[in-house]
Amino acid sequence: MKLYTALINNREQLLAAFEEDGTAYLLEDLGLFFLDMNDFICNVTEEQKQGLYEMAQIGVNAPAYNIEELELLAPIVRPRQDVICLGINYDEHAKEAGQFSEEAFGGERPYTIYFSKRVSKAAGPKEGIPSYEGLVDSLDYESELGVILGKDVKGISKEEALDAVFGYTVINDVSARNLQTRHKQWYVGKSLDGFTPMGPCIVTADEVEDVQNLDIKSYVNGQLRQNSNTRYMIQTVAGAISELSQGMTLQAGTIIATGTPAGVGMGMKPPCFLQKGDMVVCEIEGIGKIENRIV
Ligand code: MG
Repeated sequence: MKLYTALINNREQLLAAFEEDGTAYLLEDLGLFFLDMNDFICNVTEEQKQGLYEMAQIGVNAPAYNIEELELLAPIVRPRQDVICLGINYDEHAKEAGQFSEEAFGGERPYTIYFSKRVSKAAGPKEGIPSYEGLVDSLDYESELGVILGKDVKGISKEEALDAVFGYTVINDVSARNLQTRHKQWYVGKSLDGFTPMGPCIVTADEVEDVQNLDIKSYVNGQLRQNSNTRYMIQTVAGAISELSQGMTLQAGTIIATGTPAGVGMGMKPPCFLQKGDMVVCEIEGIGKIENRIV
């Protein structure tokens, strides 16, 4: 099942889609009433989820919406906490980042890099990304698999970790390289308003057969820039959840951005950063794409 948040009649509403034909249904038309996606993730029961699948099988008796015609928002508009990010989590990206700035990105990394990103409001799948002229001179994109947890976990093993996943989404971990490197800590350069476009949906975990085998891509103005597969992650999704949960409670609704493959703007020779008017598309197999113009 794919879950969407859309603005309909000035209200944030939740929709579910069961087929690939772009048809979706309001959850409230299906008898499920939740305040927002966080409420759904944290409080939906297995019976309610099962009920949705059963409804889909016998044919949904509710008004159908066409996803293409809706004003989609980020599936989780207001994350409950900062987004947890993995840094330098694909080998080829490690190389390109080190070549851009050995001081900022080079050296040995025996352990996974974790950092966080403030996201007061996640941007929608077609919302503009602010260029911040005068503040940012090196705006960059990072296509990433977003992992959303469905329950609170602490101290779980790698083997159990994927059972805690509610679903997956596409995140563009937009980065201001000048702010990211000058402040040493990456937080500021990753956290400007509008720097976390997300969507177009959450694909529930039961529909992703192997999360470590999904093609991940990005395009700028139609040109293919990133073209990899989640199998090349250095730290796996299960490994990251397990490692983070040792000593730290990860709450339901936690969003983890799992790092980006090679092909970002700072990795090009010479570096090629985003300019006003550019269109960035981030895409992951089985989930979909987000298309954000720099404004
Ligand atoms: Mg990133």
